[in-house]
This record gives sequence, C-alpha cells and structure tokens, in this order.
Amino acid sequence: MRELRRDPTTGDWVALVPGRPLPRRERGVPLGAEGCPFCPGAEEHTGAEISRRQGAGSWSVRVIPEQSPALRPEVQAGRRGFGPYDQVAGVGAHEVIVESPEHRPLWDQPLTQSIAALEVAQARLRDLARDGRFAHITWTRSAGGCCEHPRARVVAMPVVPRALSEAQARAAEWLARTGRELFQDLVDYEREDGRRVLLEEDGIIALCPWSSRVPFEVWVLPAEPGASFAGASQRLVGAAARVLRWVEGRLAQELDGVSVQVQLWTEPLRSPGGRWHFRVLPALEQAEGGISLNPVPPEEAARVLRR
Ligand SMILES: [Zn+2]
Repeated sequence: MRELRRDPTTGDWVALVPGRPLPRRERGVPLGAEGCPFCPGAEEHTGAEISRRQGAGSWSVRVIPEQSPALRPEVQAGRRGFGPYDQVAGVGAHEVIVESPEHRPLWDQPLTQSIAALEVAQARLRDLARDGRFAHITWTRSAGGCCEHPRARVVAMPVVPRALSEAQARAAEWLARTGRELFQDLVDYEREDGRRVLLEEDGIIALCPWSSRVPFEVWVLPAEPGASFAGASQRLVGAAARVLRWVEGRLAQELDGVSVQVQLWTEPLRSPGGRWHFRVLPALEQAEGGISLNPVPPEEAARVLRR
C-alpha cells in the first residue's frame, strides 16, 4: 500500500513504497590497516592531539583536529548583512574522534570500547560548550564501510542547523497545544504499539521511526526526558553505547556492508528543549520531488532487525 507519513519532529514527508528496489549498495573500499593514518604508530601525522584516553599500555580513544576543517576556532566571530544576504564568520571547531586503536568496526570490538568512545564524545561536547561563540555542537559517526578505521566527528558551529531549529519549533508548538512533551508522547505511543520497537535497556529505547526516511532507519533515545546529551548521566551514556553497538551490528549483518551514519540530535547550546537521541541512517536514501521514498516500512524493518 502506498502511504505518506510525516515526521512529527521535523515535518518532513516520507513516501512508503514497498516493492521499490533498494538503491545500489555502496561497499567499503578495502583499505586494510596498511597506511592507515589512524592506526597506532601513525600518531605524528595527525596534527596536535586534542585529548586522549589511556588504555592498557597505549591509547584507547584519541581526539585530533580534522585535516581540512570546515570551521576554525581562531576565526573572529561576527555576523554581517549584504543586502538580502546573511553572513556569519566560519568560527567553530572540527575534530575527529578515533574511537579505537583497532582497525575494525566498533560494534565488533568489546563493549568497553564502545562506552569509552561515547564518553569521550560527551566530554568533547561539554568542553566545547564552554566557548560562548558556539551555538550548536554536532557529533556523527560513520559506521559500516567494513574496512574503515572507526571514528566520529565533532563540529561546533556558530549557527543552529535548520532541521534542528525546525524540530525545536515543532516540539514547542506541541507542548503549547497539548501540554505534553512531543518525544515523551512518541516514546509512550511506540512502547504501547510495540510494532516498531527493537529493544529497551537501562532507560534507552531503540525503534524504527514511524516516518523512517530510509530503509532500516533506527532511533536510539532515552525513555525519560533529557534535552542535552552533554548533561546525560553516565548510566544513560553507557546504555546508549550498548544499544548503538547492538543496532550497528544488526544493520551490518542485515545490510551486508552498507555504510551507516549515526547522528546525534541534541539541544542547541542556549535554547533547551526536545530530547537528545541518535538517528542511525543507512546510506540507502532515495528521494524524488523533495520527499524521501522508502521501500521498507518501519514495521517490516523492525521485524527483520529483532530476529
Ligand atoms: Zn586504522
């Protein structure tokens, strides 16, 4: 059955088109560890280290500057108008978190490594939040791409991305209209319905969202209110690392090497609201005429992933 669904958090429309073939799967380019700039032994080529977590004998997680950063911390903050145009100076930070010394997928490594990697991410967000020039900080991980060194990127920026301001406006509108938090309603409804829920552990729930933009999209979110990932408890960060590891592992099995992007959604720094969560998006997006086309309804994706 053809169906259009709207994402209550962003307002984006998605068309569910069961039977439509998946886009051609992208496979990781075999690199091997040879010549990898992120493996132990190549540390001097990665620029001045920003932070490191020590492991047994060597480092366990390192944070380094992005080689060609989109934004730089040393730029003077400022905003200018040119007629109808708006310009903001490219002040920010662009960092790479090398999530393990081991050159294989993070989900295939011990759980302690996944937890350490996410704790370092949280520490970077907390540290960068102290810089008053930044309006928002993002974290993304590219998982899959079987042969890539596991790493994530942190970007602190002087503006708030449109999708996030839109999500904030929608959550505020929902609260004003119903007196309830949008994400709590979403979590409560999904728990009750059950068809799209993958698992719930220690206060973290994984589900295929009602209006999944891409096949096998998964959201990982706390069952209790919490706007900022930087402010999340150690227990929730550990549980989120465990659930993400399970999700990434299941997607790798089911999607056979398709790369997967994990995005953190968290509040902009100076306007709290919403709920922090991760959106796990396999690189299988198809779109036409401004709406996404998804051949795998989330109810079906959840059935497959729960197996
Ligand atoms: Zn490597």
